[in-house]
Amino acid sequence: MCVVSAHNPRAGAIYMVVKGRGVSDMGQRWQRELVKLLGTAVFLTAVFFAGRQAAVMTDSAALRAETEEEKDDRSKMQKFCVVVDAGHGGNDPGKVGVNGALEKDINLAIAKRLAVLLEQADVKAVMTRTQDSGLYDADADRKKVQDMKRRIELMEKTEPDIVVSIHQNSYDGASVSGAQVFYYTGSEEGKKLADILQAQFISGLDPENRREARANDSYYLLRKTGRTIVIAECGFLSNPREEELLCDPSYQEKVAWQLHLGILRYLNGMEKEQR
Ligand SMILES: [Zn+2]
Repeated sequence: MCVVSAHNPRAGAIYMVVKGRGVSDMGQRWQRELVKLLGTAVFLTAVFFAGRQAAVMTDSAALRAETEEEKDDRSKMQKFCVVVDAGHGGNDPGKVGVNGALEKDINLAIAKRLAVLLEQADVKAVMTRTQDSGLYDADADRKKVQDMKRRIELMEKTEPDIVVSIHQNSYDGASVSGAQVFYYTGSEEGKKLADILQAQFISGLDPENRREARANDSYYLLRKTGRTIVIAECGFLSNPREEELLCDPSYQEKVAWQLHLGILRYLNGMEKEQR
């Protein structure tokens, strides 16, 4: 819509210029035809660019689950696939920052940026949610349980190479800070991916961060999916400085950029053909 309306004034401008060139009565017919032609050309150009814009947005953001047909195509093309899971959503805000930031919003913002970056690198990115809504039905009794089960179902159905679940941390003390990546205890691939992402976080976001990737055997997502999965806790909302950073779109972009670099490093280490 924006693109079309942005072009309309141009169409108007061209019309005015041509109209101002009236030369003779005979010429007026040609003039009208020319104006029509130019108008059509400008309109088609506008439609073309609007269409392209829409295509770019849809493709790059991967804002929906994959169809079966797309999944077949992807496997034929030997294309890597990552499920990008934005934690929480809807009636579940996740952690709440000291100054009121909601984890669910930060998770979604980072996840969307990450999906775009992955798609630009020719990696299929499938998001578990693209809006501020959970994966539960409005009338479900146990919304959280249904939400988590559906995330797992989507992960299993998509058959991704890896899953990266985006979260934010919180602690009792305001001084605690630093991004940290978790993997399922005993998962070699999970550890490999988590180590790479942790290293990216440290080098790209905060060289003072002394945290290491950590095994966990109690998080539901880690326990319930058979896929290689990590949970990336990108920072602490209980730390005012980190909360402020995590709410800043340019910092969210930095976080997504580091995650995507780490993911590419991990995927490059995989032999797609031999899987
Ligand atoms: Zn969370």
